[in-house]
Amino acid sequence: MNPHFPHLLAPLDLGFTTLKNRVIMGSMHTGLEDRFYHIDKLAAYFAERARGGVGLMITGGYAPNRRGELLPLGSRMDNKITALLHRRVTTAVHQEGGKICMQLLHAGRYGYTPYSVSATTKKSPITPFKPSKLSNRQIESTLKDYANAAKMAQLANYDGIEIMASEGYLINQFLCERVNTRKDKWGGSSENRMRFAVETVKQTRKAVGDKFIIVYRMSLMDLVDGGQSWEEIEILAKAIEDAGANIINTGIGWHEARIPTIVTSVPRAAFSFATAKLKKVVSIPVCASNRINTPEVAEEILSNNEADMVSMARPFLADPFFVAKAEVGKSKEINTCIACNQACLDHTFQMKRASCLVNPRACHETELRYLPTMDKKRIAVIGSGPAGMASSTVLAERGHDVTLFDAADKIGGQFNIAMQIPGKSDFAETMRYFGVMIEKYGVNVRLNTKATAASLIDEGFDEVIIATGITPRTPPILGVEHKKVMGYLDVLRDKKPVGKKVAIIGAGGIGFDVGEYLVHAHAKSEKAEKQQWYKEWGVDTNLEHRAGLVDAEVLPAERDVYLLQRKESSVGKNLGKTSGWVHRATLKQKNVTMIAGCQYDLIDDQGLHITVNGKKRILDVDNIIMCAGQESNRALADELIAAGAEKQGMKIHLVGGADFASELDAKRAINQGSRLAASL
Ligand code: FAD
Ligand code: NAP
Ligand code: SF4
Repeated sequence: MNPHFPHLLAPLDLGFTTLKNRVIMGSMHTGLEDRFYHIDKLAAYFAERARGGVGLMITGGYAPNRRGELLPLGSRMDNKITALLHRRVTTAVHQEGGKICMQLLHAGRYGYTPYSVSATTKKSPITPFKPSKLSNRQIESTLKDYANAAKMAQLANYDGIEIMASEGYLINQFLCERVNTRKDKWGGSSENRMRFAVETVKQTRKAVGDKFIIVYRMSLMDLVDGGQSWEEIEILAKAIEDAGANIINTGIGWHEARIPTIVTSVPRAAFSFATAKLKKVVSIPVCASNRINTPEVAEEILSNNEADMVSMARPFLADPFFVAKAEVGKSKEINTCIACNQACLDHTFQMKRASCLVNPRACHETELRYLPTMDKKRIAVIGSGPAGMASSTVLAERGHDVTLFDAADKIGGQFNIAMQIPGKSDFAETMRYFGVMIEKYGVNVRLNTKATAASLIDEGFDEVIIATGITPRTPPILGVEHKKVMGYLDVLRDKKPVGKKVAIIGAGGIGFDVGEYLVHAHAKSEKAEKQQWYKEWGVDTNLEHRAGLVDAEVLPAERDVYLLQRKESSVGKNLGKTSGWVHRATLKQKNVTMIAGCQYDLIDDQGLHITVNGKKRILDVDNIIMCAGQESNRALADELIAAGAEKQGMKIHLVGGADFASELDAKRAINQGSRLAASL
């Protein structure tokens, strides 16, 4: 029994095979699945995670046939050549002592293809194509294709398959009246709607025999109108068990649901109550998922008997060695996923290869490597924000002698400010991780120390990395020096009092965050915050209502807020692809007034004078908060150059905001810092 995480790290005997622990690495589409020439990169990606000790990995989704593809010419598993190619993945994983299942995913009406199909012709609100309705014969042949895909996965030496039946994909479409209004044996009664799901499991089991893992990913809360009732879910779960599944993995919410299920603001383990209820009705292992990102949270779920296993997906992008570190009691060394979606899901939706904001090596294992240096140097890193933390720790890991300076009294830079935003407290985990790495690799840290050109030249560093970040922009608006005007640092860092009526100038990421901070009614405890979150989004924690939906009860906003921008485009348009809608919805719920196309005329005792569409208005507000972007803080680099540092042999590099402030985010800062450090 593992002394640190006894439940999480206990083996699981499935009868014909044993998983070494209770941790599943959940399916993620990384973009490496779609092209055969990426197969070795995919193998390296999974091999690294197998080495990291996870009990069972699930690949991204592979369609059982052409019409089930997510994208034209997307990943499919339907022939022997592809199956044999995949042996490179399975061999790499098995050599590292891991186990891996292939996920079979038929996209149904979520296919981004003109040839998508579904139970009916109802178009999804998130894809442009209307699907064709599957005929009875096509349904029978789709079932055969699932069975064939499972056989191909077996030929590829996978340890099993996962049948993707949640998140609103084809099987889920058959299960719900929202899409399935058929009148034949595949629709109508709940028994008929279930038939396709149950037949898929039965026929794949028959095709692969008894000694092959079948995981069934089941939607426990559809979170859309016309979703399943809990009663239907229980009946389905028993039928899936009888049909031959070995594990029930769980999914929450369709992709088109308007309740967030995985972004940072979703409380940790928010949906494990549903798994706990399902666990009571089946005897095969049930796996909890969604917003579980530390071994401590996972252990708690298992020790409370809320699940038999825990699935984490993005946490394995953030840290492939999650399990290995937990095993030896070093969970503080885990690089924690902060659920930002910025480098993983956002990339997937932009057709770019996935990676991770906190770990740019994810999905780039063969290209970005932190190899020991053969040429040890003395390197100063100035600024301990994301760019500085990443570069100093990678440099030190590689064997350089690194000194990290920060003028502040703690490391983290702007992450100390970002973590003040409701729902962003996980940003503290990144600072904890880098803090532990700084200690582990022996970075010399000098806090409360403003580095100057003279001091750096005096100390004779070989190279200097300027990671001094940004300074907030103060736009030249008439009356900007008025006492009503504040910067976002005054509010978030210095906690200066803010009045009840507020205008925010600038509606970028920070403007939205400040808006959320100002309207949010802070609850007394973490537990109370969680309950408030369920209420405000209308999540039925009693599972009494169809699809897990109840009417939302939104608490009144703490303040009246205007969120303003000069651009004519809709406010919040440039926020993250998969998280922006949550920020927009949150502020709308709280009646924040968003105004595009503003001209800022004057600030005086009356408030903020603006012109919109040629009409003048006065916003009678107590405070005007500037969130108008940022400018690079590169004074130190200029000073060093002016002082002739380069002529004396010192190399100067700029990373993060110090290099380029426009559209800067932590993804770029960490990526740039890490890549530079890997190259020196
Ligand atoms: P910074 O984080 O600005 O760090 C610079 C550091 O340099 C500071 O610690 C400063 O004290 C130090 N310094 C400066 N000059 C000197 C000197 N001469 N000597 C010593 N030290 C010096 N990004 C995202 O990707 N996702 C988000 O969700 C997100 N949310 C945010 C929310 C808020 C409220 C804020 C304010 C920012 C958010 N960001 C987010 C932006 C992100 O934090 C920044 O992009 C990132 O911190 C930039 O990193 P950096 O290392 O370049 O600089
Ligand atoms: P930003 O996203 O560039 O937004 C700046 C805002 O200020 C814009 O709305 C801009 O809109 C306005 N602005 C710019 N110049 C102005 C001027 N001279 N006068 C008045 N308004 C002006 O920058 P940010 O909000 O400061 O965020 C900084 C970075 O942090 C961003 O790149 C963002 O990616 C990152 N971040 C990300 C998140 C996230 O959730 N992913 C959250 C917070 C921050 P107009 O020009 O139309 O007025
Ligand atoms: Fe997690 Fe963000 Fe990394 Fe995605 S990019 S794995 S959400 S930390």
